[in-house]
Amino acid sequence: RDALSFAASKIRNIADFPKPGILFKDITPLLASPRAFHIVLDAIAERFIGEHIDAIVGVEARGFIFGGALAARLNASFVPARKPGKLPAACDEVTYETEYSVATLEMHKGSVTEEARVIVVDDLLATGGTAKAAADLVRKQGGYVVAYAFVVELSFLGGRDRLMPVKVESVIQY
Ligand code: IMP
Repeated sequence: RDALSFAASKIRNIADFPKPGILFKDITPLLASPRAFHIVLDAIAERFIGEHIDAIVGVEARGFIFGGALAARLNASFVPARKPGKLPAACDEVTYETEYSVATLEMHKGSVTEEARVIVVDDLLATGGTAKAAADLVRKQGGYVVAYAFVVELSFLGGRDRLMPVKVESVIQY
């Protein structure tokens, strides 16, 4: 509990980013603190002790940071889900609605093997649209989404309900 409050103290609020009226949760101070970074990684990893995980799908861009570190801890593959046009080989894609527009995520074809057990990781859960799109990519390739894992969850936006019935793990909630 103490450790988690320490980690939470490293999340900074930035007003009016990326647009007026939005209070952005900035995780860069947390990354700058080795102790805080370690605490959140341990907190997520311990929830999967004893479970076999084949792959972590990390969502561009901050999902790469936590997802990569988590993959190494869980002895799983790391697979990037990226914005359009960034991945070099043939991709599968999923288009989804965000609060103000439409967005697309891509993943290299064959990234996830049939029946693979996968965790989708991102820094923050807001409405859940982004994470759900990443999960849809996994399922498109025949993988099974065991859980979603986030460092921060904005509970008041109800993203968790949108991701049901898949398990949702988060470390710091607002
Ligand atoms: P959602 O699709 O509405 O759940 O939005 C989540 C996505 O937007 C994630 O990829 C987050 O990185 C990003 N995001 C939304 N709000 C914030 C924030 O306050 N801080 C950091 N990332 C955010």
